[in-house]
Amino acid sequence: MKLPLKHLRTATAALLAADLALLLLAWQGPAWGVASPSQGVAFAASAALSVLLVGLAWALARRLQASQMQVDEDRRLIQDAFDAVPAAVVLFDAQDRLLLCNADFRQLYLPLQDLLQPGTGFETLLRAGVARGLVPEAQGREAAWVSARLARRGQPQPPMLRQMADGRWRRIVETRLPNGRLLAHSIDITEIQQQQQALDAVRQAAELSATRLQDAIEALPAGFELYDAQDRLVMTNSVLRTLYPLIDDLARRQPPPSFEEVVRTHHARGGLPHLPDQAALDAWLRQRHAERRAPAGTLLATHVVRQSDGRWIRSHERRTRDGGVVGVRLDVTEAETQRERANIARLAAEQAQQRLTDAIDALPDAFVLFDADDRVVAFNARYVELYAASASVIRLGARFEDLLRFGLAHGQFPQALGREADWLAERLSAHRHPRGPLVQELPGNRWVRIDERRTRDGGLAGVRADITELVRREQELAQLNTRLGSMNDELSQLSETDALTGLANRRQFDRRLASELGRAVRHGMPLALLLLDVDHFKAYNDRHGHLAGDACLRQVAAVLRSCAQRPTDLVARWGGEEFAMLLPYADAQQAHQQALRCLAALDEAALPHGASPLAAHVTLSAGVAAFSTQGAGDAEALVRAADTALYRAKMAGRHGVVAG
Ligand code: GH3
Ligand code: MG
Ligand code: MG
Repeated sequence: MKLPLKHLRTATAALLAADLALLLLAWQGPAWGVASPSQGVAFAASAALSVLLVGLAWALARRLQASQMQVDEDRRLIQDAFDAVPAAVVLFDAQDRLLLCNADFRQLYLPLQDLLQPGTGFETLLRAGVARGLVPEAQGREAAWVSARLARRGQPQPPMLRQMADGRWRRIVETRLPNGRLLAHSIDITEIQQQQQALDAVRQAAELSATRLQDAIEALPAGFELYDAQDRLVMTNSVLRTLYPLIDDLARRQPPPSFEEVVRTHHARGGLPHLPDQAALDAWLRQRHAERRAPAGTLLATHVVRQSDGRWIRSHERRTRDGGVVGVRLDVTEAETQRERANIARLAAEQAQQRLTDAIDALPDAFVLFDADDRVVAFNARYVELYAASASVIRLGARFEDLLRFGLAHGQFPQALGREADWLAERLSAHRHPRGPLVQELPGNRWVRIDERRTRDGGLAGVRADITELVRREQELAQLNTRLGSMNDELSQLSETDALTGLANRRQFDRRLASELGRAVRHGMPLALLLLDVDHFKAYNDRHGHLAGDACLRQVAAVLRSCAQRPTDLVARWGGEEFAMLLPYADAQQAHQQALRCLAALDEAALPHGASPLAAHVTLSAGVAAFSTQGAGDAEALVRAADTALYRAKMAGRHGVVAG
């Protein structure tokens, strides 16, 4: 058993006191009248006690030594424990003198190293710290700061926040211990402080955003409402409250009303006229609840509801990420009214369009309408019928040029054969600048007349009339005309030709004489006329017969025709067995020579004449008259002169020439 040190100490003191008492008794016993055996006992007891005392003293010394070692060990342990604390820790005694501080504390206050000794007063440390610039917040007001710090020293207070000279932040906590000592520890909270500052900044920004959001929501021209995840109305703006004046009070109610309460109250106050009764309301609410349970972020169905005051309100709703529903309400009365008007206008336009289509379809002619971009906007069945080869591409929106090109590639336009590019250019030009009707041929000898006109909006309306019959008749007429023309030519040829001889007849002769005479007079050109008569032809007929007479006349005519020298010379049968030869540009002399040549030619032809007293062959007599010799310039006089000359040639014995 080990006695506590305290008892050991008491026992030693008691023994020492007893030992001293015995010794005193032994030494002074006789003087005090104590008997000598007692003195001996006292000495002996004192000696024994001394021995015991020495033993005790030795034990005590051992125990004290052990105790001191324990104390040192404890000190080291405390110091180690202090040093192990991840904070700067310092302990002051009740008189505010430094007892202990750890390594972190020494490190923190390195400039005060010389003062960090047990026994240094807190005030000394404080003033030195301020003086050595360890407390930035005290700068410029050192004395006041020190006295304020000292006044608060040891008072119950919240943790102190201090920025150190290196800019880092520490939180200092001072605790007064029950024994009057003061334990202070400080930890580096720079990161926490920075995080706190960042957090504050974020919070401020968030608060600012929230304020801005609120302002923005308030400034919205639309009504805004927000239901939380429990479907309670937690936010509205003033526009929403104006849109729903009947339930304005609900927006301010606490606790906030649920969506269903809002709807039911609104209905009860007559705000939802499209829901005539409770059953309709219940059904509508069921539908709305189902919608509002859509996944987060879903855009809910848009509703346009007519209010009791006649206004139309359109609602857009979306599930928020936290399970609420945000709603935006717009007064769309004006738009709805306009939409209704537009609907009416559209219906009217559709009716008009239908009527137009019906009218176009009822047209006997083909009709097509192009817009300003030259794309088909209307056409009728007749149009497709006409352009059957292009039917597959005739549709709304088709471009005119594409229709043409397709038609060209599919034989739609016979007129373009072999000159497609030119035809296309001409057709496009005519289409762009319509001037008058066009006639276009279609396959199968069909024909259309195209009337194209610009419309007021820059488009083009085209009407195509089938003129196949007309063209066919015209073609027939043209053919007939041609035939008629050639017949006329034939007829006129016949009417001016002598049937027996093929020479010009009297009619042609008279016409030519008049015109040649006119020219001769106008230009002072000579003109001569020969009249030639077969000698004793009556006798010829009598001898050879009338038919032979005819044949003879044809031979005489051929001889005379061969005598004509110039293309302008005209040989005509004057009548019976008399012939005339009109000689433009010939004067009397030349005409005389010509007459002689004619007589000679017939002599040479030697047509046998069995009854002529003049020769064995047929002969001629000729009378010559020339315009230049007459001067008067009238046809009758010229003929008369030639006739007189002929008469004189007969009188002169025939087979000769006489100039008039
Ligand atoms: P001249 O020498 O005086 O002219 O005697 P001519 O017999 O020829 O005279 P005349 O003029 O009296 O007779 C013309 C005859 O020509 C009369 C007629 O029978 C004949 N003659 C007239 N035209 C034709 C005709 O077309 N065919 C035939 N075969 N004879 C015709
Ligand atoms: Mg005659
Ligand atoms: Mg005759």
